[in-house]
Amino acid sequence: MPGRNALFIPGPTNVPERVRQALNIPMEDQRAPDFPDFVRPLLADLKRVFRTESGEVLVFPGSGTAGWEAALTNTLSPGDRVLAARFGVFSDLWVQMCERLGFQVEAVDRPWGTGVPVELFAERLAADKGHSIKAVLVTHNETATGVTSDVAAVRRALDAAGHPALLMVDGVSSIGSLEFRMDDWGVDLAVAGSQKGFMLPTGLAIVGVSRRALEQIGTSRRCYLDFAAMARSVTTGHFPYTPATTLLRGLRAAVDLLLEEGLDEVANRHYRLGEAVRRAVAGWGFRLCAQAPKWHSDTVSAVVLPEGFDSTAFARHAYENFNLSFGLGLAKVAGRVFRIGHLGDLNEWMVLSALAGAELALADFGVPVELGSGVAAAQRWLLEQRAALAAAAE
Ligand SMILES: *Cc1c(COP(=O)(O)O)cnc(C)c1O
Repeated sequence: MPGRNALFIPGPTNVPERVRQALNIPMEDQRAPDFPDFVRPLLADLKRVFRTESGEVLVFPGSGTAGWEAALTNTLSPGDRVLAARFGVFSDLWVQMCERLGFQVEAVDRPWGTGVPVELFAERLAADKGHSIKAVLVTHNETATGVTSDVAAVRRALDAAGHPALLMVDGVSSIGSLEFRMDDWGVDLAVAGSQKGFMLPTGLAIVGVSRRALEQIGTSRRCYLDFAAMARSVTTGHFPYTPATTLLRGLRAAVDLLLEEGLDEVANRHYRLGEAVRRAVAGWGFRLCAQAPKWHSDTVSAVVLPEGFDSTAFARHAYENFNLSFGLGLAKVAGRVFRIGHLGDLNEWMVLSALAGAELALADFGVPVELGSGVAAAQRWLLEQRAALAAAAE
């Protein structure tokens, strides 16, 4: 098929040209005396992206899943209790990992399309007078349903209960895109991966670790993902095993892009583009999987197709006929929703092209949708935003 595949899945995301160029380098000597001159400032700048001064950011070869495992096994001991909520594929997988690693999970099931039940967490924490809960797990952005949860509110619940549990956050599809404040929110472990907000190929687990979490060493077995060994890279600039040097060079370029744009503007841009998608979905007359505006995710929208249409078949139709990739509905919402990823290296026309393509593919697939209804709604919103930005600049 002519033209390129348009990637509107929530990860891997599109790699910006500057990052692609940065990845195109010869192999280098990771033991060279000047390698630390590259590594140390990179790790320092990653702390700015996570918005932590007191913590450290450790970079492991792996994907986000390795980051989950690192967070758990470095700080917890077998049998430790953790509090978590399940409301989508990723929050569920993290709970499953806890069980397989031998932790006792108090898992609260919530409807898909909602997020972390802060009040319920607050009750459980207040009731846990003996502080047997050692960690609270928060999936900041549930990528399967397009739901963002309030991490700061969970921190407030912990503080209100005077509870010392570690706050662990899955930020794989939020960090580098949505507002994320590790220090202000008192996050102890913040997990990201390279292929979402960091706009890189898959292959790095990027984990923010608070000072407290670095000192709270659990007795779970670990070796490859050991924090203590990796934390030495912060000062020495050398890694405990061969680093993915190519990806680190790409990460340098990606972090530069994020910091040049400014983290506030990165988050604002994701809001503007995410809202454009939501306006388009409303224009089509469809609803989102996210059940209320407070859950709306600015990085991914899970769109519910009208009754009688199979969303998996629709995504396949878009791919095979228009070279257009949308995310599938997973597990409980398989066949019901398709997902539009709107994170990373993205601007207005890219979002509009996804929406125009979706409209075309929907109509071609037989879903009743008025051509132009979604695109025009998104365009109107984007124009309003332009006007508002111009007025604010005056
Ligand atoms: C993608 C994703 C993961 C899994 O990360 P991998 O890089 O695929 O291992 C975990 N959590 C969330 C919220 C994700 O979006």
